[in-house]
Amino acid sequence: MTSQKIIYGDQVIPYTIKPDPKRHSRIAIHVEPDGSVVVDAPPEFDLSSIHTAVQKRARWVSGHVGEALTRFAHVRSREYVSGEQIMYLGRRYVLKVILTDQKPQSVRLKGNRLEVETKSGDTDDIKGCVRAWYRVKARDYFAKKIAEASDRLPWITEVPPFRLVDMSRQWGSCSPEGQVILNPHLIKAPRDCIEYVVLHELAHLKHHDHGSEFWQLIDTHQPTWKKAKAELDALVEVLTVE
Ligand SMILES: [Zn+2]
Repeated sequence: MTSQKIIYGDQVIPYTIKPDPKRHSRIAIHVEPDGSVVVDAPPEFDLSSIHTAVQKRARWVSGHVGEALTRFAHVRSREYVSGEQIMYLGRRYVLKVILTDQKPQSVRLKGNRLEVETKSGDTDDIKGCVRAWYRVKARDYFAKKIAEASDRLPWITEVPPFRLVDMSRQWGSCSPEGQVILNPHLIKAPRDCIEYVVLHELAHLKHHDHGSEFWQLIDTHQPTWKKAKAELDALVEVLTVE
């Protein structure tokens, strides 16, 4: 393995070359979850041709490194201290922890801040407050969205029951009895992503599998679903970390 670097704008991006005997004509660039860059290259390639090939894709590399670092920082930085980012309905808010010994603990959105009033300042307490706040918001918002969707989707005759279930890598599901299950973390996602998950689960009330008729139904009722789904897939780690 050899360490090199490319320049993109004012960024210096280091990368590591890994000779790969299975490769013959071209390199492959990987950006790892921690933002490090690994280049698989045919062993016969010299440094300068590898460098030229990586430099040519500097814009792509820079974009992916940026995304990975943002995600990595998020995933690591849940400490429930003032200044930390809080996601809600696709928007970023800043957590503000206020120590108080008078009032009961409370959480509220104020401008671009999520203010948590707590007696102890203890991480677990603050985490518990934020978590409870998310659940209340999730219950209200999802109930409203399920009711609205049920109204406009012709195969639904009555609003199905739903409940919140914490899941690490799944946004929702629909039981054979017709109960919709949603992940409370979904309340952090942009509105069109929530719309997609609600529609997806409600579509299962008509088609239980993911066959072509199922996707046709999704297409008809949310033509932009692919963008929403891609966004959710990209955000899964960021949104489900606590
Ligand atoms: Zn499904």
